[in-house]
Amino acid sequence: MSTTPHTFAEFRRTKIIFTLGPATESEEMLEKLIVGGADIARLNMAHATHDWCRAVIRRIRAVSARVGREIAIMMDIKGPEIRTGDVAQPIRLEPGQTFDFTVRPGGTSQESSEEIRSVDVNYRDLVNDIKIGDTVLVDNGLIRLEVLEKKDARIRCRVLTQGELKSRRHINLPGVKVNLPSFTEKDRADTLVAIDEGVDFIALSFVREAADIETLREFLRQQKSPARIIAKIEDQSAITNLDEIVRATDSLMVARGDLGIECPFEELPSIQRRAVQCCLDYGKSVIIATHMLESMITQPMPTRAEITDVANAVHERADCVMLSGETTVGRYPIECVGILEKVARRVESEDLTSLPDPAHLRGDKHRLLAAAVHLANEMPGTALLTFTRRGYMAEGIAAMRPVSAPIFAMTNSIETLRQMRILRSVEPYMMPLESDPNDTIEKAISVLVRAGRVRIGDKLIVVTDILSHDRLVDSIQLRPVR
Ligand code: PEP
Repeated sequence: MSTTPHTFAEFRRTKIIFTLGPATESEEMLEKLIVGGADIARLNMAHATHDWCRAVIRRIRAVSARVGREIAIMMDIKGPEIRTGDVAQPIRLEPGQTFDFTVRPGGTSQESSEEIRSVDVNYRDLVNDIKIGDTVLVDNGLIRLEVLEKKDARIRCRVLTQGELKSRRHINLPGVKVNLPSFTEKDRADTLVAIDEGVDFIALSFVREAADIETLREFLRQQKSPARIIAKIEDQSAITNLDEIVRATDSLMVARGDLGIECPFEELPSIQRRAVQCCLDYGKSVIIATHMLESMITQPMPTRAEITDVANAVHERADCVMLSGETTVGRYPIECVGILEKVARRVESEDLTSLPDPAHLRGDKHRLLAAAVHLANEMPGTALLTFTRRGYMAEGIAAMRPVSAPIFAMTNSIETLRQMRILRSVEPYMMPLESDPNDTIEKAISVLVRAGRVRIGDKLIVVTDILSHDRLVDSIQLRPVR
């Protein structure tokens, strides 16, 4: 065994999420992504069937077990999302043309043979809630229409920007207070599949207030599911209610695709910064999503602006960066993960200033965790080691954003190990948690030595329970690896 102490400089703190799709669903691609450093796989329920979800979840679990690296799975349920129905063939829309959105109950979307063409939408109150002159944006804002007229079960619009309307396209109505339930019947059915398959995270789309998260939390509680909640903020209500949403959720996703449509685009960088800061203040994990390497859907290299955007998320100390189209249909999914990995490591190696302690974490336990992280920051070259059954210790330490120390988090639960994949700087490991705390620490050090993560001479800052007169008390210990 080498006796040269580690510097721990070589590990990546920022985690990588990829969205599953035709480009990445095969066993071969999954293996490359898992071995290549992806931490969480995302299923987007706007497009996935239940059979496909079950098959791909089982495939991920099988590949993870085979390669010895368990990743987490996130199911992204669509919440109160407005979508068009199916169209037989793409409909070409040109500026100046009229086009109808219809709300026929149970109706199929159609391109009629008449002059007026139409598509059905899944929002029954559309005609009541929208005003003449409002804007309708289709397919992530690519096609823009203006409402001309409302009648019975349809709105008639004028096309402002051209495009091709395909099946099940996403619709945004900026500034319209959408009157749809936060957790729909479809979400319920999707979540039951997620629970049945042991999915680790449920991401709820279009969260507008804390009560939306409570509804999902209550459902998970009733189903006895340990899945954790990611609140996706995507519209103006979420920004207004950001503080209560962050308090209520386990993690936050800054879903920039929809945010950039629902809010003035020039607001987006400030919203991202505010959202990340709010999560840092409450010690919640945060994901920056969408268009991180968009050009790599077709090109082998990112733009300079994309590299800088990824670097910015890492610099802001987000927990995760996320890929969408890049890995669902893109030509270079493996390369995208490689580029996120490279940029993250490079930026992290320069971000060597400590952040203020989280503003809202004030309990004794958190003060202890903060003291451990301060010690690690004072002693460059040390690593943090902790033990956790549900992941809360690791989450608390990660929230303090250690400057350079990795956080080795040992757990006896495979679910917890996977859920810790979302946490910045946390490297999770499985091991039995013995009743004797000292044995547990010795065994953890052996696990880390075997994994090649610590060597003789390394120093560990251990945050754990110790036995004192038959009682467990919290402790911070400085342990050299011998
Ligand atoms: C987004 O809008 O940025 C996002 C992640 O959500 P979705 O991909 O579900 O539209």
